[in-house]
Amino acid sequence: MIKIPKRPLFRNPIFAAFFLIIFLLLPFVYSLETGGWRLRFIFVYPYLILISILIFFKIKFNKKDKKLNLNCEAIETEINSIQEDIRNKKALADALSAKLKRYAQLKDFTDKLTSVVFLEDTANIVLAHSIALMSDFDSCILYLIDPKTYELNCFLSKSKVGAIVKSKKGDIFDYWVLKKMQPLLVEDVNKDFRFDVTRIGEEELRGINSLIIAPLLTYNKIIGILRIDSSRVCNFSQEDLRLLVTLSDLSAAAIENAILYKHSLDLAIRDGLTGLYLKKYFLERLEEELQRTSIKKGHLSLVMVDIDKFKDFNDKFGHIAGDLVLQTVSKELVAVGGREGNIVCRFGGEEFIIFFVDTDKDKAIRIAEDLRKSIKSKEIVLRRKSSRITISLGVVGCPEDGFELEDLMRKVDSLLYQAKRTGRDKVCFLEK
Ligand code: GH3
Ligand code: MG
Ligand code: MG
Repeated sequence: MIKIPKRPLFRNPIFAAFFLIIFLLLPFVYSLETGGWRLRFIFVYPYLILISILIFFKIKFNKKDKKLNLNCEAIETEINSIQEDIRNKKALADALSAKLKRYAQLKDFTDKLTSVVFLEDTANIVLAHSIALMSDFDSCILYLIDPKTYELNCFLSKSKVGAIVKSKKGDIFDYWVLKKMQPLLVEDVNKDFRFDVTRIGEEELRGINSLIIAPLLTYNKIIGILRIDSSRVCNFSQEDLRLLVTLSDLSAAAIENAILYKHSLDLAIRDGLTGLYLKKYFLERLEEELQRTSIKKGHLSLVMVDIDKFKDFNDKFGHIAGDLVLQTVSKELVAVGGREGNIVCRFGGEEFIIFFVDTDKDKAIRIAEDLRKSIKSKEIVLRRKSSRITISLGVVGCPEDGFELEDLMRKVDSLLYQAKRTGRDKVCFLEK
């Protein structure tokens, strides 16, 4: 509210007139006591004039004040509208700068996505940026679909200290997104009429109260979902969901490319029938591991496996049945030797080889013996007929039997040959 400043007392004409009246009043009172009517009239006349002037100025000033008040109100309205305008422009500028910041983050995100090829790196970037762009969250999970079972598998998750990611296979919210192929915002999991949370156990719900999920879509095909949870009710807005959808749209293509890249790498280094590594890759990795073992002065063992009389099996049951046996044996080899660092390889035909890192020869002999027994005990049912297979194995150890790749390979091969020669279904190794 604008206040009109008061006129200084001495510059106020009404005040001046008032003074004059007082000044003239004194001789008039004096004339009342001393003078006749004429004298009184002489004093009254200017007195009346002065009163008229006073009234005239009073009216004039009142009018001026009113006009001033009106002007002030107009100015005040203008000031208010300018202030409102400034507020709006400031809000707009804030929103724009927030948008610019998000665009910069998105650009950084796409730049980073294009700089990596491996699925693990891509997933790490996706999660890190999803978290950075959200104001508040408890956990962020990337689920990928298993193309064979069409089930969700938690590929990577990041959570705040104390928050737990338990749902490795996804819950009703994830499968809703998977089915509808649409993004989902749940402001309060206990009040959302679309979902019956009683179907999810308390433990599985892990204190989640609100969440957002976006599908990872490529060419109308869903390859996974990106999900952010919070323990707070109404933690996410439609704007957050829109942002997550933008992120998942950008991520989907990168993730699909990374999966394809991994697949093409696998094709180059893995056998199509058994999924085991191929000979070339095995030998390259063995060379590296032997060097590491000799530097570390550690242990490494090689176990070579060959299926006994496999040709007869093929002849009896056919090639397809033979393939099934190769797959069964491969699974068993992976179960025994597929620990991180080891390499299980289809060396050729019905011949396999495994290197075991940080494993001495004695341990490798025990593993080979267990493997022989477990394959022998496997019942293979073909054409309603039960049959069994046996394997022969050769075992060498580094440093026990040598350090050189060629030397060790030659020795393990001749030990396998020895097992064949001396009756099959056995493990051969060089005695100390
Ligand atoms: P041994 O006990 O001496 O090893 O006898 P074997 O019959 O297993 O050995 P041989 O080398 O004479 O025969 C290997 C057979 O393995 C011949 C081939 O038909 C079969 N084989 C190789 N690769 C495959 C394959 O991918 N699928 C099937 N079904 N058979 C295969
Ligand atoms: Mg054989
Ligand atoms: Mg063979």
